[in-house]
Amino acid sequence: MSDIAYLKRLFRTYYKEKRSEIPTVSLFDNREFGYIPWDKQIIMKRHMSFKSQDSITKHLINEGPRHVYFSGALYEQPEIQDMDGKGYQGCDFIVDIDVDHFYTPCKEDHDFWYCKECGKSGLGMVHKCPKCGKSKIKTLAWICDKCLDVAKGEIIKLIYDFLIPDFGISLSQMRIAFSGHRGYHLKIESEQIRNLSSNERREIADYVSGENISLEILGLQKKSGTFYSFSGDTYGWPKKIIRKTYEILKKPNSEIHELLSEKEKFDFSDNYIKGFLNSKQDFIDKIANNKYFILPSIEGFGMTNWRKFFTGIVHEVGVEIDTPVTIDIHRLIRYPGSLHGKTGFKVQEIFPDELDDFNPLDEVNEKLDPIVFESKVQTTQKLEVLEAQVPATKIKGKTYGPYTKGEIIEVPHHIAIFLLCKEVVKTI
Ligand SMILES: [Zn+2]
Ligand SMILES: [Zn+2]
Repeated sequence: MSDIAYLKRLFRTYYKEKRSEIPTVSLFDNREFGYIPWDKQIIMKRHMSFKSQDSITKHLINEGPRHVYFSGALYEQPEIQDMDGKGYQGCDFIVDIDVDHFYTPCKEDHDFWYCKECGKSGLGMVHKCPKCGKSKIKTLAWICDKCLDVAKGEIIKLIYDFLIPDFGISLSQMRIAFSGHRGYHLKIESEQIRNLSSNERREIADYVSGENISLEILGLQKKSGTFYSFSGDTYGWPKKIIRKTYEILKKPNSEIHELLSEKEKFDFSDNYIKGFLNSKQDFIDKIANNKYFILPSIEGFGMTNWRKFFTGIVHEVGVEIDTPVTIDIHRLIRYPGSLHGKTGFKVQEIFPDELDDFNPLDEVNEKLDPIVFESKVQTTQKLEVLEAQVPATKIKGKTYGPYTKGEIIEVPHHIAIFLLCKEVVKTI
C-alpha cells in the first residue's frame, strides 16, 4: 500500500471511531463545504452541502479527505457552483492567526527555505531569495511550541484587548480553534456582524492589527521644542499605546535593551537605547502622574525616533492577523474536529477559558488533545528520510530528530504519521 493510501485509511478510521465526537457547526444547512482529497490531481472539491451532521460524517468516513473545510458564509443554496447563484445571506467574522504569516525568532531554528531559481537555501523566514532576489521560494515550515505560544498570545490579545473592550463582543459569541498546524482561528457568530461588507471587515482588521495607524492623528506632535504624545487616554488605541509603553518601561533595563534593539521590532542602536534608559524614570513618573502627553526629553530623540518608538509599540499592541482571510466573505475554513492533512493533528475547538492552559503539542486534557494518533500501546514505525534536512520535532515533551536525507529512523506511531503527512519520509 502506498503511503498516501495508508494515511487515507487512517483518516477514514479516525472519522469512523470519532464520529460521535465531531462537533457540529451552527446553521449547518446553509454552509458550503469543501475538501482536499489525497489525490493530488484534484485541488479542492467545494460547493457541497449537507443536510445533517450525520451525512457529512458518512462522507468523511467514506472519503477520509486530507483537509476539510466549511464556509463562514451562509447561503440559501450552498451547493450551487456559481457564487452569485448561491443566495448569500451573510458571513461570520473570521480571524486567522498563523505563524506562517509573521516573524518569530525561533524560525531561525526550524524553518528551512530553498530557492528554486538559484539553489540557495537557509534557515528562517524569507520572502525572496537573498542571493538572486527571486521569490520562487520553497519552504519547509515546522511546528514549534514557541511559535504556537506566540500565536496563542495573539488570540488572547485579540479577545481581551480588542473584541471585548472595543467592539462589545461577548465570549459566548466566539468560537476558537487550534488549526491543527501553526495557528488558531477565531470566529464571531452574531447577527449584526454577519451583514458587514468586505470593506467594513477590512476596517476592523486594520484596527486590530494597527495597520495604517496615524500617530499624528492620535496626537503625536512637536510644539515649541516639546514632544507631545496621545491625548485620548480613556479608550481605543491611545490608551493601549500608553499602557503598553508603561508596561515596557517597568521591565528591567536589560530586557528593555533587548526589545528595543530587536531588528524586527524597534531596531534602535545602542546609543539611542542608552539615552532612552537614562530618561526611563522620568517617563515612568510622567505616565504614573497622568502627564504622559508631554513626552520626556531624551537625548537623540527627535520626531523620527519618537515615531519609530511608537510604531514599535503599535506593533506590540496590534494583533498579527491574516487580513485576506478576514475580508474574504466566501472563504472556507477548517472544519472543527477534522484532521489537518499536513500534520495528522485534529482541528481542536477550545473555549476561551481553556486557552491559557491549552498546549497543543503536549496537552494533558485528553478531550482537547489534537495529537490523535498516539497509541496506548507503544508501537514504532520504520521510515526513510526523504528531505535534505528535517528539523527536530518536539511532541509530548519528547524530541525527535533533526534528520538528514537517507537516514533510516524508527519513531512512535504518532510521530510517523506526522512525518508522513509532512511528506519528508516514506515507510520502508
Ligand atoms: Zn535564489
Ligand atoms: Zn518556532
